[in-house]
Amino acid sequence: RAARKRYPAQAIIDLAALRDNMRHLVDVVGGPHSGTAVMGVVKADAYGHGLLPAALAALAGGATWLGTAQSHEALLLRKLGIGPDRCHILTWVYNGMEVPFDELIANDIDVSVGSLPGIDAVAAAARKLGKPARVHVKVDSGFGRNGFTEESFDVALAKLVPLAKEGVLHVVGQWSHLAVADSPDVPEFVTSTDRQIANFNAFTARMDKAGIAPEIRHLANTAATLNRPEIHFELTRPGIGLYGYEPDPAMGTPRDWDLKPAMTLQAQLGTVKHVEKGHGISYGRTYLTPDNTSTAIVPLGYADGIHRSASGFDMQGAKHVDKPGGPVRVMTADGPKLYRVSGRVCMDQFMIDLHGSCDALGVHEGDTVELFGPGRGEEVAEPTADDWARAADTISYEIFTCLRNRIPRLYL
Ligand code: PLP
Repeated sequence: RAARKRYPAQAIIDLAALRDNMRHLVDVVGGPHSGTAVMGVVKADAYGHGLLPAALAALAGGATWLGTAQSHEALLLRKLGIGPDRCHILTWVYNGMEVPFDELIANDIDVSVGSLPGIDAVAAAARKLGKPARVHVKVDSGFGRNGFTEESFDVALAKLVPLAKEGVLHVVGQWSHLAVADSPDVPEFVTSTDRQIANFNAFTARMDKAGIAPEIRHLANTAATLNRPEIHFELTRPGIGLYGYEPDPAMGTPRDWDLKPAMTLQAQLGTVKHVEKGHGISYGRTYLTPDNTSTAIVPLGYADGIHRSASGFDMQGAKHVDKPGGPVRVMTADGPKLYRVSGRVCMDQFMIDLHGSCDALGVHEGDTVELFGPGRGEEVAEPTADDWARAADTISYEIFTCLRNRIPRLYL
């Protein structure tokens, strides 16, 4: 109630769901004593869920590693009190000289090396500090992003081996990332993942032969954590699964994988009013009311991270193609009802056509409207971030990470 009065909209994050999702992922790899650890991937402000709360929930659920792409988030976790006694932290994006390797090493944060300048920069920082850097050697097994290619690996090994022998670098891990593990039903993707695994193993053999066998190997994201037990190795790195979603709706629903979406995005309706048939709604008049109806304003827009591509068009046979907008659920006096974005998403608000009289429907200004959540409700289930992803032609990951900070995160 207090939250309702203070904010036009809020993202409510269920910390118990985050913890339970992590518990489940730990179970999937065989439990806490299986020899496979689980990293909570909390990059990008924990996929928009809030870095520290999500990290703590992941640790409470049994994660023993945290991972961030950017180094400032890894450092923030340590500064906020998540010490090396609590968990390992790995950070992986190397963007030239900007990365403060000295600070990372001093704070016992593991770093990824996947390029020759990267090795040099890490080694220089470790020497300066007089403390070995804990490194994970990133190999490009087929993703085509970070990491040493097969062709460049001999040169990399020639640099890494003496540094490891000298004690400048401590080679903790070998790792890589999968491109299509979320499509287990597409045969060519399965073959492609198999090829990535074979490449990954070939890199390991070369490290072994060079005398710098990695202590741990990690390759599995959420998809492979769920459906590729043979590559759990010593560590897996689920991200989206922690937040309660399967990586691709083609894999099924969160429920099919015993995951619970942790975020609910809801708002309070703004102006609710009657409009006549044929009334143009929002910029560009891409939606004309098909009948006499009522509209309601949802106080969220693209400045909040609501995708403009989730706009809804209905020109009734005129120049525009019909296109369903993003879904919302309104609790009317008549029970929960699903509506869609009508017309273009504006900067701060969008409209919905209630397809009926607000008086008859019992819809009022201030009523709660849910954009997405865990899918509560049997007959008229609340939409999920996957539904929004479909409407905006994107993936759930982008739905969460685009949500701006002006939407307060409230924690349950
Ligand atoms: N590992 C790396 C290197 C990543 O970049 C990501 C996210 O994109 C993950 C793991 C987690 O992937 P997912 O969220 O699909 O589980």
